[in-house]
Amino acid sequence: IVEARGVSRSFGSTPALREAGLAVDAGEIVAVMGPSGSGKSTLLHCLAGIFTPDSGEVWFDGRRLDTLSDARRTELRRTAFGFVFQFGQLVPELTVADNVALPLLLGRVRRRDAYPRADAWLERLGLAELGKRRTGELSGGQAQRVAIARALVGGPRVLFADEPTGSLDSLTGEHVMDLMVGLAREEGTTVIVVTHDARVAAFADREVIVRDGRVTDPLGAAAARVPGEVVR
Ligand code: ATP
Ligand code: MG
Repeated sequence: IVEARGVSRSFGSTPALREAGLAVDAGEIVAVMGPSGSGKSTLLHCLAGIFTPDSGEVWFDGRRLDTLSDARRTELRRTAFGFVFQFGQLVPELTVADNVALPLLLGRVRRRDAYPRADAWLERLGLAELGKRRTGELSGGQAQRVAIARALVGGPRVLFADEPTGSLDSLTGEHVMDLMVGLAREEGTTVIVVTHDARVAAFADREVIVRDGRVTDPLGAAAARVPGEVVR
């Protein structure tokens, strides 16, 4: 459903991606791992149409994404994609329920329809009692669950998550990942999640590794390091 083909992207003279390729099937949950600075976030942003590649192609649902106009790409992001980042994504002056309803309200859903949908998602994430709180008052794990509710409330086809558990302790991180993956599976949502944490990645169907701007799969990379040996 989402694919990068030979995608390169530099920042000034720094190459962040070098002909990176990744194809993700509908409903698949893929963990993107790799060292710091290897290009994981850049890959995610290219797949989501936030960055335009310098060369290569990005496809979504049988259509070229990278050649769409900015307006059509923004519209597609709003309607088909959900995003969860490490932190700083909630509006601290608004309540939890307002934050979750926001994408619906921006999509011109009426308030009397948007708030019940937001509340239903808060309930699924175990946050029903927090709807009226301001997001600035939440714990890290609560805030990330609110961010997940907000990312899923519009029924996205693809959820992009960049270190969604990176600001959490490992137990809370695993719990948040478990919830996110569980709900995504119930909804049939495709998930592409960048993480440093192997325990978090274990919730995914498949792991890929980004190294020096290229995507490899872990078994392939291990096999390349140990020529002639079978890798289990
Ligand atoms: P981390 O695990 O630390 O988040 P990452 O794998 O997500 O790292 P990227 O953020 O994709 O790595 O960065 C890849 C390379 O591109 C790095 O060398 C980084 O310094 C550079 N880079 C990324 N974004 C920018 C930017 N906006 N401006 C300049 N350079 C950038
Ligand atoms: Mg990153």
